[in-house]
Amino acid sequence: MKLVFATNNLNKLAEVQQMLPDSIELVSLKDIGCYEDIPETATTLEGNAQIKANHITETYGYNCFADDTGLEVEALNGAPGVYSARYAGEPSNADNNMDKLLHALNNASTRAAQFRTAICLNLNGEQFLFEGVCTGEILSEREGAKGFGYDPIFKPTGHPRSFANMTAAEKNAISHRGLAIQKLVNFLKAL
Ligand code: IMP
Repeated sequence: MKLVFATNNLNKLAEVQQMLPDSIELVSLKDIGCYEDIPETATTLEGNAQIKANHITETYGYNCFADDTGLEVEALNGAPGVYSARYAGEPSNADNNMDKLLHALNNASTRAAQFRTAICLNLNGEQFLFEGVCTGEILSEREGAKGFGYDPIFKPTGHPRSFANMTAAEKNAISHRGLAIQKLVNFLKAL
């Protein structure tokens, strides 16, 4: 079975492919000739994942899954959440986003936060949702240089180091995205 992963990130694609049985062939957006910028206009992570997966299934006719991730900060009532990529405005800039978040938490009574990933899978006319959550806290300054996005200021619960101080394998084993993908893979393996 061919399954579209609504991404052009070949690293992500290869990582998920490795976890799947050979009977499932993952293909990227480019592989199916999709070069559009699919607008993510929903107000929830689930909604955006659904928009992307539905666009591919409806326009190109493929089984497909799409993901969307956000950082939900307790003291900010869940912000930046679905708006994490452009928290400090356009164009998306990780340094500016971190500066804005650190500033917003200057006098906060809690620095608790979680990353959450929603995955929407369209399979043979049915739709399935998967979620992965990684709880933690926002550090008061950047630590580490690996990863991307908010990694330097996010320390997962029960771990002494920020995401940006972990190897990709260490992070994937506990991350929101890793957990959501694992649920998707388990589901697909059981088909
Ligand atoms: P996306 O849905 O995977 O594109 O994620 C949206 C935004 O959330 C990204 O642009 C990053 O700012 C942030 N983000 C998502 N996943 C991570 C992560 O694992 N570490 C740090 N930031 C992330």
